[in-house]
Amino acid sequence: MNSGADRWPGESWYQAEAGGCNWPALDGDRRCRVAVVGGGLAGISTAVGLIERGMSDVYVLDAGEPGAGASGRNGGFVFAGYSLGNDALIDQVGEDKAARLHGYTRETVAVIRERIERYRIDCQVNDAGVVLADWFDEPETLQAMAERMRARLGFELAWIPAAEMDDWVGSSRYGGGLFEPGSFHFHPLRHIRGLSAVIEAGGGGVFGRSGVRSIRKARSGWRVDTGQGRLEAEQVVLATGGYDRRLAPTIQRALHPVATYIAVTEPLGERLGDHLPRPVAVYDTRFAFDYYRPLPDTRLLWGGRISMAGRSPAAIRRLMRRDLARVFPALGEVRLDYAWGGWMSYARHEMPLLGRTGDGLWYALAFGGHGMATTTLAGEVMAEALCGDGQRLAEFERWRPVWAGGILGRAVGQGIYWRAQLRDLWRDRTRRL
Ligand SMILES: Cc1cc2nc3c(=O)[nH]c(=O)nc-3n(C[C@H](O)[C@H](O)[C@H](O)COP(=O)(O)OP(=O)(O)OC[C@H]3O[C@@H](n4cnc5c(N)ncnc54)[C@H](O)[C@@H]3O)c2cc1C
Repeated sequence: MNSGADRWPGESWYQAEAGGCNWPALDGDRRCRVAVVGGGLAGISTAVGLIERGMSDVYVLDAGEPGAGASGRNGGFVFAGYSLGNDALIDQVGEDKAARLHGYTRETVAVIRERIERYRIDCQVNDAGVVLADWFDEPETLQAMAERMRARLGFELAWIPAAEMDDWVGSSRYGGGLFEPGSFHFHPLRHIRGLSAVIEAGGGGVFGRSGVRSIRKARSGWRVDTGQGRLEAEQVVLATGGYDRRLAPTIQRALHPVATYIAVTEPLGERLGDHLPRPVAVYDTRFAFDYYRPLPDTRLLWGGRISMAGRSPAAIRRLMRRDLARVFPALGEVRLDYAWGGWMSYARHEMPLLGRTGDGLWYALAFGGHGMATTTLAGEVMAEALCGDGQRLAEFERWRPVWAGGILGRAVGQGIYWRAQLRDLWRDRTRRL
C-alpha cells in the first residue's frame, strides 16, 4: 500500500504549471478541536466546511502537501453523481432517496463554483462543461438512459445527436452524446491550494510533510502523532483516500486502491481546435472510459484506464498514446510531455464511506472516480455532523466499511475490471460488424 509520502513518480502538468509550494510541517505539541488526517479534497473540504460554520480551531495534516494524492492530480472534471451508477443507486435505495442523494451532488457542483468565486481561487475554471460521448453509437440506449435520469432523479442532460457531434468533438469515433449543464472543468491542484489558504485565513492550520504515524485515544479526545509533532484533538477525521490502510485498519480494510493514468501532450496551438471545437471535457460510455480536456496552454490532457497496478511514466505514455490515437489518429505522434497516475479509493459497494467508528473516529473515504463533487459534499456532511447535525450523514450509513477481501479481493477486483473491459470490447466489435 502506498503511503502519502511516496507519491506517484513523474511530475504532473499541474505541479509544473502551479509551481512548488512549501507548507510547514507540524512540529512540537499542539492542541486543536478538530484534526483532519489527509489533505485531499475530502479533508480540506471538511476543514473549509468547519471554518465556514465558525469553527477556526481546525488542523489538516498531509503526508505530502494538500492535493498530493488524487485530489491534485486528477482529470479536473467537476460533475454530478457517485461512482456507483445511477440505476444501481435507484435499485438500492428507491427513487426518492436516490433523487435526493443525487441532488446533493448536483448542488455540490454549484457549491464548488460558488466557493471558487467567493474566495477568488484562480484555478482555470472552464465553463464549457462535460460531455459523455457515445462510444458504442447506440442512440436509443443513451437517450433512454437520459430519460430515466430525468424522470427518476430530476437530472437533466442535454442530448447531442450524432449529426451535431462534430461541433463538439472532432472524432469519428463516437455516435452522439449527452451534455451535463452546470458541469465544468478546472485545475484541481490550484483549487485545493486555494481552499487551503481559506483554512489558514480562517484561523485554522494546514501542514505538509506531516505523515501521521498513529491516531490513539487520549483522555480528552485523541492524540495524533507524526513523529516530528503531536496534536491533541477533541475530534479526528480520517480522510487518507487510497494512500493509507494502516492508521485505522478496521475501516481502511474496506478500501481498494485503484489506479488511473494521465498524459499531457505538447502545446497543440490551433490544432487543438480541430479536435475540440468547443473546449469541453469529454468522457465516454465504456466501463474504463477515456477522459480528456483542453488545457489553457493548448495542450490536451488525456486520461484513462483503471487498474490495480502502479505504472511508470514511460508505460503510461505508451498506453495513453495508443488510446489517444484511437480517438484522434492525427495526434498519434504528438509528444507527451507529462505522464503520471494516481490512486483512487473504492469500497466494494462503490459508494463513499462516511461515518464514525464505535470509539468515535470520523471517516470520509472511498470516493472512487467521481471525487470532485462527492468529496466536497462529504466535507459538508462531515462538517454538519461535527457541528451537531448528523441528518445527512445518517443517509450514508447503509454503505458500511465492508472488508474488501485483502489481496484476494484485489485479484477479484482486477478480474471484474478485465471482464467489464472485454464486454465493452465485444460490444464494440459486434456493433462494427
Ligand atoms: C488520475 C485521476 C483522475 C481522476 N479524475 C477525476 C475527475 O476528473 N473528476 C473527479 O470527480 N474525480 C476524479 N478522480 C477521482 C478523485 O480525484 C478522487 O476521488 C478524490 O480526489 C479523492 O479525494 P480524497 O481526499 O478522498 O483522497 P486524496 O486526494 O487521495 O487525498 C488523500 C490524502 O491523504 C494523504 N495521506 C495519506 N496517508 C496519510 C497519512 N498517514 N498522514 C497524513 N496524510 C496522509 C495523502 O498524501 C493525500 O494527499 C480522479 C482520480 C485520479 C487518480
